[in-house]
This record gives sequence, structure tokens and C-alpha cells, in this order.
Amino acid sequence: MTQLPAYEQLPVAQGVASQKKALQAAGLVLVAGLLLTALLSWNVWRNARTALEQQFALAANERIDRVRERLSMQQSELESIQRFFENSEQVSREEFEHFVSPLLGDTLGYAWLPRVEQRNRAAFEAGAHAAGMLDFMIFELTLQGQPIPAQQREQYFPILYGASEYLEEMPLGMDLNSTLPGRDLAQRVVRGRTVEASMPVILPGAPPADSTGVLLAAPLYRTSATVSPTAETRVGVQGILLAAISYRLLIEQGADGHTEQLALTMRDANDPRPDVPLYRSPVTPDATAELVSERHLSFAGRDYLVRVEPSSDFLRRNQGHPQLWMIFAGGLTSVLLAGYVLTLLGQRQRALQLVAERTAELRANQLELQENQARLHFAMDSAGHGVWDWSLDTGNVFYSHAWKAMLGYRDSEVGATTEESTSRVHPDDQAARCEAMRRHLRGESTLYQSEHRLRCKSGRWLWVLDRGQVVERDHDGSARRMIGTQTDISSRKAAELELGEVNSRLHGLLDAATQVAIVSTDLRGFVRSFNVGAERMFGYSAQEVIGRPVPENVFVKDEIRRRAHDLSSVLGRDIRGFEVVGALVGEGHEEHEWTCVRRDGRQLKINLIITGVRDSTGNTTGYLGVATDITRRKEAELELRRLSVTDALTGIHNRRYFKEQLDQAMARCARSGEPLSLVMFDIDHFKDINDRYGHEAGDTVLVTLCQRIAQRLRKVDVFCRLGGEELVVLCPGSTVEQAWQLAEALWQALRGQPMDGVGVVTASFGVASWCPGESADDLMRKVDRAVYRAKRLGRDRLERVEA
Ligand code: GH3
Ligand code: MG
Ligand code: MG
Repeated sequence: MTQLPAYEQLPVAQGVASQKKALQAAGLVLVAGLLLTALLSWNVWRNARTALEQQFALAANERIDRVRERLSMQQSELESIQRFFENSEQVSREEFEHFVSPLLGDTLGYAWLPRVEQRNRAAFEAGAHAAGMLDFMIFELTLQGQPIPAQQREQYFPILYGASEYLEEMPLGMDLNSTLPGRDLAQRVVRGRTVEASMPVILPGAPPADSTGVLLAAPLYRTSATVSPTAETRVGVQGILLAAISYRLLIEQGADGHTEQLALTMRDANDPRPDVPLYRSPVTPDATAELVSERHLSFAGRDYLVRVEPSSDFLRRNQGHPQLWMIFAGGLTSVLLAGYVLTLLGQRQRALQLVAERTAELRANQLELQENQARLHFAMDSAGHGVWDWSLDTGNVFYSHAWKAMLGYRDSEVGATTEESTSRVHPDDQAARCEAMRRHLRGESTLYQSEHRLRCKSGRWLWVLDRGQVVERDHDGSARRMIGTQTDISSRKAAELELGEVNSRLHGLLDAATQVAIVSTDLRGFVRSFNVGAERMFGYSAQEVIGRPVPENVFVKDEIRRRAHDLSSVLGRDIRGFEVVGALVGEGHEEHEWTCVRRDGRQLKINLIITGVRDSTGNTTGYLGVATDITRRKEAELELRRLSVTDALTGIHNRRYFKEQLDQAMARCARSGEPLSLVMFDIDHFKDINDRYGHEAGDTVLVTLCQRIAQRLRKVDVFCRLGGEELVVLCPGSTVEQAWQLAEALWQALRGQPMDGVGVVTASFGVASWCPGESADDLMRKVDRAVYRAKRLGRDRLERVEA
């Protein structure tokens, strides 16, 4: 057995394990990839988050700074108006409006509120009336918002004049002290001499959206600020400059690009209610981002808490989701990588599995081949065939047990070379065997086959049939391996020899039988053998007829037709063709006489005996015909026959013949209805002729008379000598009249011419015709009576008997 490569040892279990390992490896790659992706994604997310937070902090700070700037700008503006008043002796309404109008952009309005003491109230109002403000009154608002004259107070801070782009009408005369926040503001301003902001208020007269705001107040003293605030100085306050600031206007008008993106709320830091902001930007915060920036802003003594949150828009603009891409890309890469690993390992595993499968198949095939070979050897050995297996490249020959046993050797007694077989071949068979082998090795024959004798261990010769075939060839076509069988054919050879001898004896026998034609055919009539006797009998040579149908014209067609007709009616089926000859052979033989036509045209009478030729199973495979020439015998029989019905003296037919013919004619006429008549006559006084001229002369008279009568007869008439000098003519087809005329003619022919030496010889004639139903004897008696009457009536005359 061929050494199998190492990988063949790869068990199937290992293949399964490899598959598991491949799956594990792919799974590991996938998990690692996903972990790495998660890590990276988290990192990216964190970075993005940091960036977002930074971005937000920057924007929120900017936004809050902006609000702070705006608040401090409001303070600066009010302080500039304060300085403007401090540096002026008197500020008229026009001057005030002129000065503040550039500052009105984002301030709801400015107002000048002079301090009016109670005692000066009326004078002040009167002064105002005089200055053209006819409806001027220091007033306060009721809870319903109706103006009423201000209650009496120690001092008032009524709005004397103001400027605003938003307020439709400046509430001139309205007292700051009339409201709690105003009073508080006024007190703080006067006390601190600084700019102060009120608590958040609802600004009267402002559009509702802008009404929430703060009042910013600055005191005005005529004296320099170097004087420290005292009760006197407090009294010395001339009035308050007031700025009404709407939170919305303040914040929104100074807004930058982030207005839309950031939600801003501002509330009073002292207000404990977180949900009541002073200002809430219209942008909705997005709480999901969890980003908040809060800062306290101090503004003119008030503390605000500004809270900034990102809007969805801000988040959309600033918050990419790179981690999602990372997750997607990383996940995809991991899956692909795992798939790739799986494919790679799977391919390797499949390749290994394929190798293992192919190897297993190869091994199975090899085993099967070996088993087949063993079985074949066993089968061949068992069947009595020796087997040899010749490797031409090594020169080794395997001889099976049966091969060796056939020659009488034990297994160990025969080697493994070609010499073992060639050296044992009979010298007379060597050349033919070598030639057959050479032809096959050269590829000129598909099978090597040789029948030769081998010398057995005992020294006797054994006939074997040696057959073989090249089963493997090199690329150049030269034989590499050849397998063959060797069969003992000694008994067949003996039988063949015996058969040959029997055959030659048989042929000798057949050919020796020159007087008998022996012909064998197949069922169709094709000639198989044709012996010398047949050649002589029919005039054909064996060479001409063997393998061909029996010559058609050997038989007479009419005979064949008649025979076919007879056989068909006997056997009840249509018999035709060559079957006519052997139709009755059946289990035995058929004998029949035939007329044959020789090749030279001469006819022969033959007696043909046909026997069926059967094969080993009993089926008829052909016919054997044995023919003897019976022409001479037939001729002799005819001669005998002729003699038996012929009168020896006269040569005409005798009484026996007459009787036969009469019977036949009667039968014929009975069938056909034809008439039948007889003319019988007896020589008159013949005894006298004998007596007078001698017996021989009497014979001559008889002979001459018969000749003379015969000449006068028709072919159909049958002329017979009934005995002595009594004669009769059978006239088939003749009525009694016609027979009478014939009888007259014969009578005349006789009596009209004398015979040599004896003169005229006469005879008495009787004529009678057959009536249907009469027997031959009846008819004979009738005609006999007629002759007798003619004798009686004087002889040399004719008489007839009517029916
Ligand atoms: P009839 O006129 O009455 O017939 O007289 P017949 O003499 O002819 O008749 P009969 O019967 O008395 O005699 C017949 C004779 O014919 C007797 C016999 O010797 C002779 N005869 C018969 N056969 C032959 C024959 O073969 N040869 C010869 N020479 N004579 C024969
Ligand atoms: Mg007579
Ligand atoms: Mg007579």
C-alpha cells in the first residue's frame, strides 16, 4: 500500500475543532474591535463634549458679559446725564431732550424728577402751569391705574419732563414716592448719592412686552461731590434723574449672534422664586445637553442671576456626533475584520477538510481497488482461471495460486519473473505466442490471446488459453502493466481434436457415398453441406451451392405446386416455398419421390428422405436430405406395368387393362354425364382358320386384324383383346349411334380386304352403350348378347342392344 501523506491523518474531529477555533477567533476579533470602538467612541464623545462645553462656556460668558456691559452702559449713560445737569445752571426741557435723545436707543426713557417739598407743591404746580404744562399735577395711581392727586408727603419727586421713544405719553407729574419701589429707590439714591437701581417693576405706559424692567436713578446735587452725604446734603438734593429700562430691550437690543442659540433667563438674585424670571429669552433651552452657565451680575445695588442654557440650534451647530460615526465605522470595521478572519480561517479549514476528504476518498478507493483485485483473483482462481499480473518496468510477475496449481506447482515453487511462464511453453507454440504478445504490446490488438501448451511439473503438456491486456501505459504509449488470465483448455482441445477426427471421418463417409446425395440445409433452405453423391446426382458442385438456397429449378414446379396443395389440405394450413420439402418431418422423417432436373436438364426420379437436424436443446435448426436415384427402378416398374396390361401376341391391351379402363371411364362418365359405348367383336369361324392354315397363321391373322382395326380408332378409344379371338373397343364420349358408326367402319375395314393366305376374315360385331347405374358386368353382358345375336343371325354382321 502506498504511504499516505501526513495530512491524511487529520481526523474529522480536528476539522470540527478548527471550525470552532475559527469561530472563536472571529468572535474575539469582533469583541476586541467593538471594545476598541467603544473606547474610541467614548473618547471622541468626551472630547466632543469638552469642546461643546468650552464652546458653550465661551458663548455664555460672551452673552452674559454683553448683558453686564449693557447694564453698566445704562449706568454710565445716566451718570453722563447727571454730570450734564451738575455742570449746568439750569437745564431746560429742550436741552434735556436734546442731550438724552442720542442715548434713547435701548433705554425706555429718561426723566427728570425735581424734588418738591410739601410746602412748595402748589407753587411748583403753578410754576408748571405757567411754563405751559396746563394739566400738570403731582399725582399717583390708584390700584386700578387711575391718576389721582398725590397724597400729602414730606417731599415729592414728580416727573417734570422726560424723553422716550417708547412711551406714548410721559406720565408727567407722577410722583416717584407714590409707589413702594419708587420710594425705596428715592431713599437709597438720596442716601447713598450713587446711582441705584430699583427692585424690578412694571413700567407704566410701556408696551406690555417691554413693561418688566428697572428704574435706574441718579441724584442731583448742585454742590460738589466732595461734600460727604449728610442729612443736610440729603435735603439739598435737587432731584433725581431717572432711567426706565426694559429688561427685554436692554438684553435683546444689544444681543450678538448667539441670541438665537442661547436661552437666557435673568432673575433677581434676592427673589427666592426661581421660576419668576425678570427676563426669559424666546429661545427654548435644550435641557438634554445638561449645560448651564450662571453668573451673578451686580447692577447699581441690585444683584441679578443670569442663567444661560444652550438651545437645540446651538447644540445642532456645535455638537457634532463624531462618536456615532466612530461607533458605526468601528462596528463595521470590527464586523468586517471578524468576517475576514472567519473567512480566512474558514478557507483554510475548508481546504484542510477538502484535503482530508479527498485523502479519505483516495484511501477508500485504494482499499476498494485492493479488495476488488483480491476478489477478482479469488473469483478467477475459484473459476479455475489462473491470474498473472506483469509490471513491465520492474519485470516482476505475480502468478496467482490457481496459475501455479494448474501446472502442479505449490506457491513457493514458482518465482516472479516472465521466465516462469515463457520457459514452459511448448517449442512448437513459442513463435505464435510471442507474436501475439508482441502485437498486443505494440498496440496492434486490443487483447492478447494465445492457445499454447505449457509443461507441467509432471512433464506432461497442458493446453491453456492465455489472455491478457495492458492496463497501464506510459505517456509515450509503452506498456507499463499487463494483467491476464490462464485457463486450462485441455479437455476442450481434446474434444476439438476428437470432433475434428469425427468430422473428417464423416466427410470421408459422405463423400464415399457417391451413389447417394446427402444435402443438409438450414430451415430457410440454404445449403450447408453437399456431398460428392449430390454433386454427381444433380450436376452442381458443392462450392456452387453451399451457403446459397437450394437451386429453384432442381424441382419440377408442377410437382411442387401439387405437393403444396396436397400438404396444405392435409395439414390444414398454407404450405409454401421450401417448407413443402420438409413439412411432414415432424419428430421423425419424411420420404417422398420427386422428379428432379439435373443441371444439364435431364430429369431424374429420386427418393428423398428428409430428417430434421436438431441442436442440443432439441430445436430443429435445419434439414438433412438423403436422395437416391430411382430412375431405373421407376422405368422397370413402368415396363412391368406395361407388360401386365398388354397382350403379348397382338400388342394391344389385355382384359385386365380393359377392366381398369372401363371402371375409370364409367366413374368419369358418371361424374360428367358423358355417354360411354362398347364395340365388341368375335372372329367368325376362327377355329376353321386354325384348322386349315395352322395355328401360326391364325396368330398372324389375329395380329394383322388388330393392326387394321387399331388404325381406324381414335386416340381416346381403348382397344383390348378380351381373350382368344374376342376383342373390344371402349369408346368414351360416344353415344350408341356413334359407336355403331365406328363398328360399321371396322366391319367394312375387315371384310373389305382379304388377308394374306387366308382370304377374307370376318367378324360378328355387337354394340352397346352404358346406362348410368349399370355395373360393368351389366354392360359386358349387354354387349356380349349383341355379339351372340350377330353370330346367331348369320355372322359377319352388326347387332346392337338398346338400353
Ligand atoms: P364361331 O364362328 O362360332 O365363332 O366359330 P369359331 O370356330 O370361331 O368359334 P369357337 O369358339 O368354336 O372356336 C374358337 C377357336 O379359336 C378355338 C381355338 O383353337 C382358336 N383359338 C383361340 N385362341 C387362339 C390363338 O391365340 N391362336 C390361334 N391360332 N387360334 C386360337
Ligand atoms: Mg369365333
Ligand atoms: Mg370365340
